[in-house]
Amino acid sequence: MATRAGRQRDPRDYGYPHDDRAALVERARIVTERLVARHGHARFSDKDPLSMLVDILLSHRTRNEQTYAGYKALLARFGDWAGVRDAPTEEVEAAIAMVNWPELKAPRLQAILRQITAERGELSLDFLCDLSAEEGSAWLGRLAGVGPKTIACVLLFTCRKPILPVDTHVHRVSIRLGLIGAKVTAEAAHTLLGALLPDDPQAIYDYHRALLKHGQNPCVYGVPRCAQCPLQDLCDYYVTRHRPPAPRVIAADDDARSG
Ligand code: SF4
Repeated sequence: MATRAGRQRDPRDYGYPHDDRAALVERARIVTERLVARHGHARFSDKDPLSMLVDILLSHRTRNEQTYAGYKALLARFGDWAGVRDAPTEEVEAAIAMVNWPELKAPRLQAILRQITAERGELSLDFLCDLSAEEGSAWLGRLAGVGPKTIACVLLFTCRKPILPVDTHVHRVSIRLGLIGAKVTAEAAHTLLGALLPDDPQAIYDYHRALLKHGQNPCVYGVPRCAQCPLQDLCDYYVTRHRPPAPRVIAADDDARSG
């Protein structure tokens, strides 16, 4: 409804698009099923949680190849994560020069490694796998620069905890599909989308990976390539743009004029 101050805030934009939660759960399930048929199941990492945390911290706004090169460079130059922690910051920064914002990531990474050592008495996050997803999230969330996506990546990919990471692709595609409202933030999407998925790490990882792949192609930024998409019948974006126009209602005086 329009007001003098402008359009009223529509709660459906900031939560689920409608109240039929069962229908949204079913849509998420079919989306996952179809995309897994195309891309295969997600495979859990054999990295330990600390190594995954380093990997994800390096990967922010950085391409996979550059992240991989930065991760390898750190281990090649400093031997292990304790070596990275104790090295001069400018050397760490130089080692990861291929990732975006090395000047921010190097000191942040070292601060996190020092904090873990101080709090745990060792440089390891293996204990996270013995905690619940909620407890692990709360522990990681206290580290500076570690947000919901990073937390979920570490806990799902390595500890196999049932918690969904929402990256930019998962966020965009989920909105287009109509699983969450158009103005749901990526942060809020973690909880809303997670509640539509089974409490099963493999199913959650499959959804994450499937939508990430789908967001790279065909559901890209800008204009998605819908002609190549197997989800057209499940997609609100597609339906609203390709729905045939409503038939024109012919009024009585139209008849009179045409008669
Ligand atoms: S139909 Fe188009 S907008 Fe919808 S999921 Fe497929 S590519 Fe994306």
